[in-house]
Amino acid sequence: TFIVLEGGEGAGKSTQARQLSIWLRDEGFEVVTTREPGSTKLGMRLRALLLDKDQTGMSPRAEALLYGADRADHVSQVILPALRRGAIVISDRYVDSTLAYQGAGRELSVGEIRRINEWATDELVPDLTVLLDVPPASGLARLGGTTDRIESESEDFHERVRAGFRRLAEGEPERYLVVDAQGAQEDITREIQRRVRPILPD
Ligand code: C5P
Repeated sequence: TFIVLEGGEGAGKSTQARQLSIWLRDEGFEVVTTREPGSTKLGMRLRALLLDKDQTGMSPRAEALLYGADRADHVSQVILPALRRGAIVISDRYVDSTLAYQGAGRELSVGEIRRINEWATDELVPDLTVLLDVPPASGLARLGGTTDRIESESEDFHERVRAGFRRLAEGEPERYLVVDAQGAQEDITREIQRRVRPILPD
């Protein structure tokens, strides 16, 4: 079972990923938690490049391809091996982040980025994607100060990213759970559990 958490800056993805993994381990499952970018040796190098303020102005297509390279390595080295041995994989970000950031955010063709990523991932699609939806101003405030290249993008950019995520969720309602990330953390955790329980293996 492959579960992904998506959302903008400061939406609380890593907190919810942690809560979900604690719950699933308590229920007796083997759980692998992972994130993008940067979950393999190559990925860590790519993450450093992608988040480096000195790389501001990197061409959008190059950025999209570097995320694709990170994801290809992530799928083949981490996600697929774990799924094959029956583990539940929880990833903080996946393809939809690229469709939202590099597609909607950088205004590249979402259809083209989707095709590149179908190839990069060998068409591995999550069983469930949880979108933690948060207005950019509130998410960025939660982070308190910009720390990397993307977080210092304009509010317009982050608004496009948010709208991009919401469109993806509307297009595929059966694969998505959209959660208002401004709610109480414990309520969000419970809402995610309710949606995850029916898709768990026996
Ligand atoms: O999830 P995390 O906050 O660690 O992501 C690192 C940074 O990379 C974030 O600022 C995020 O906006 C950015 N990012 C991106 N495009 C992606 C994935 C992440 O710009 N496809």
